[in-house]
Amino acid sequence: METVALVGRPNVGKSRLFNRLASRRLAIVHDQAGVTRDVNSTVVKNHYTLLDTGGIGLVVDMDHEKLIEAAEAQVWLAIEAADLICFVVDGREGLTALDETIAEKLRESGKRVILAVNKIDHEGMEDQVDEFTGLGFETYFPVSAEHGYNSSQLEREIEVVV
Ligand code: GDP
Ligand code: MG
Repeated sequence: METVALVGRPNVGKSRLFNRLASRRLAIVHDQAGVTRDVNSTVVKNHYTLLDTGGIGLVVDMDHEKLIEAAEAQVWLAIEAADLICFVVDGREGLTALDETIAEKLRESGKRVILAVNKIDHEGMEDQVDEFTGLGFETYFPVSAEHGYNSSQLEREIEVVV
């Protein structure tokens, strides 16, 4: 069974997307950045293993530096284990430096990547995808993990690839 990992900086909606793709509420969704510190996994439609990750670029105080390193290491292990990466970005907040850093590492990994531009809650917001196309990923979708906009298209694309 192939493995799909949801990867991206904190608070972009990975856990919300995980729950939507899993059609279950397993991951903890929280307004506080970096709530998912370990890796959650579930099997979707008996077809692929889906990993939710949370530890890239966590911003917490220095006492927790070791925890951050451990969490980040977990994410890179999840990326290594994955056959397909769903790279999640925040279409409302726009492209950030951390998105670019993650994108570069994903390109280096040589893994197949689908870019999910999340928080595009309706058609009228689709233009917000444009600034992410420069990241160079061929396959990208505007989606709303929270409201479901376009999420079935993303779901289908993942199922076609794995
Ligand atoms: P994670 O840190 O990447 O796992 O992000 P979460 O799934 O915990 O979501 C972070 C925040 O973004 C929560 O407040 C969610 O309600 C919100 N959020 C997630 N997806 C969407 C979306 O599609 N649209 C909007 N408007 N908000 C979203
Ligand atoms: Mg999360």
